[in-house]
Parts: sequence; C-alpha cells; structure tokens
Amino acid sequence: MAEIINGKELAKEIRLNLKEIVEKENLSPKLAVILCGDDEASKVYVRNKSKACDEVGIEFEEFLLPSTTTQKELLDLIDKLNQDKEIDGILLQSPIPKGLNIEEAFEKIRPEKDVDGFNPYNVGKLCIGEDGFIPCTPYGIMKMFEKYNINLEGKKAVIVGRSNIVGKPMAQCLLSKNATVTICHSRTKDLKEELKDADVVIAAVGKRNVIKADMIKEGAVVIDVGMNRNDEGKLCGDVDFEEISEKASFITPVPGGVGPMTVAMLMENVVKACKNK
Ligand code: NDP
Repeated sequence: MAEIINGKELAKEIRLNLKEIVEKENLSPKLAVILCGDDEASKVYVRNKSKACDEVGIEFEEFLLPSTTTQKELLDLIDKLNQDKEIDGILLQSPIPKGLNIEEAFEKIRPEKDVDGFNPYNVGKLCIGEDGFIPCTPYGIMKMFEKYNINLEGKKAVIVGRSNIVGKPMAQCLLSKNATVTICHSRTKDLKEELKDADVVIAAVGKRNVIKADMIKEGAVVIDVGMNRNDEGKLCGDVDFEEISEKASFITPVPGGVGPMTVAMLMENVVKACKNK
C-alpha cells in the first residue's frame, strides 16, 4: 500500500514558515494578479491564491479585465505593474480569452517579478541550472520529493504531458536531480510501454483515469497533477487512485496533493521576489 503524500499538510507548513520570515524580516511583499475574462475555474484559483496571501502576510491586489480586453490593454497593464515599485510579483492567470497572446504577455512581465516563472528568461535560467523563478507546480512537486526523502538520482522518470507550465519545466527539475527523463504526450505511440519501468510517474494530462494500475510498476512513485471532474462533479486526477495506491510506493491524492503545493510555492516565489528587491 502506497504512502500518501500529503500536499495539503506540507503546503500549510510552507505557508507558516513564510509567514515567520515575513514577520521576522519585516518584509512587505505584494502580489498583483491579473484575471482576464470570466473563466469560472480561474476565479476559484485566484480566490485560493488570495487566501494563501492573507495567511502569509502578502498584500494581494486583483486586476479584473473583461473578455473584450485587447492585447495592447493587457500589455499596458503589465507595463504599469512592472513599473510599480510596491509590487513584487505579477501573475497572469491562465487561460486568457482566445485571440490574446499569452506568450507575449508572459514575456512582458519583468523577469524579477515573474513569480510564475513563465517568462522566457526564467525558462532559460531553469534550463541552464541557474537560480531564477521555477514554475510553481514542478517546484511544489520537487518539495514533495524532498520532504518524503524520495531520491531521484539515476531513477527513470516519465512525465505524461508536455505543457510549458507543467511537463517541460518538470523535466528540467528532474534532470537537475539526475533522473533519466522521458516526456510523453498525445502522439506518444505506446504510453504503457514507456511507463512500464518508470520509477517515478508524473501525470499532467487533464483526463480522468488516463493512467491505470496495469501501466505502473510495483513500487513506483506516482504524482498526479491532473484536475478533472468525475461524473458526480467531484474533483479527481489523471490516475486511477484506488487501484494504483495498492501498487505504488508513494502517491499524491487529488484533491490535497499537488494543488495546494502549487499555491504554496507561489507564495515562496513572491517572498523571494520581495527579498531580492
Ligand atoms: P495541457 O492541456 O496544456 O497539456 C496536456 C498534455 O497532455 C499535452 O502535452 C497533451 O499532449 C497530453 N495528452 C493529452 N492526452 C494525452 C493522452 N491520451 N496520452 C498522453 N498524453 C496526453 O495541460 P496542463 O499541463 O496545463 O495541465 C494538465 C492537467 O494538470 C490539467 O488537468 C490541469 O488542470 C492540471 N493542472 C493542475 C495544477 C495543480 O496545481 N494541481 C497546475 C496546472 C495544471 P499534446 O501536447 O500532444 O497535446
């Protein structure tokens, strides 16, 4: 039976540590969040980030833009926030309305305020192993490995999903710990074959039950990034938790695994940006 990695608990511990740092060092970190359009899930994520900011002692300011916003208006707002000395971190909540170019917007955020780590400068820093801002989801997963003493050296890690926000930066993080990394995606010929000797599996697909127990090696570490809804509308991940937890050595639940860690690492990045200032 797998040990459940308790992301909720660890995230709380991280927030409390950060709160202590903010108080002890007399910091006044501030995060600006841009929410563009009316994606319902995004509103929930932004609310969770706001709550976490409150807990840590980070000032939170939300900028709501309508779905009719033009690219220029979005870039102008980012420019204004870039120049605002009070603001340490800028986060553009994705997705943004169709027709807007999110990559150009990420590029506009000054690297020192890019607490999501999506600006190409920070992406490059992660690739060459220099200190910058690491995207919050892979960063949170690395913290989980550390907390649970999961050694990655020489391990075969398979990531399912190649997005810029999860899959690709995850690969860089795992490489930096000397894992041997494979990235799978929708055109991978035989996912089961790729997964069969994986010591570590990271599922970041966004499809319920895409990873089943017969695809996983006995004793594998299974990290479920996916956030999906089941037929009853309940939150669930990409992996078949019930069956895989019988086989894996460690597994993250959904909810209570990767999700809270992503928010906690955002808090850590904002405090870091404030200290760097
Ligand atoms: P994307 O949609 O950007 O990427 C999904 C990836 O999965 C793509 O690379 C896609 O391949 C691949 N894929 C799709 N179908 C299959 C398949 N059948 N077999 C193998 N690969 C497949 O999603 P994100 O990376 O943004 O997010 C993934 C999931 O993680 C979502 O559920 C999202 O909600 C969740 N998420 C959770 C976070 C958290 O904090 N817990 C944070 C961020 C995301 P291709 O590239 O070929 O299209």
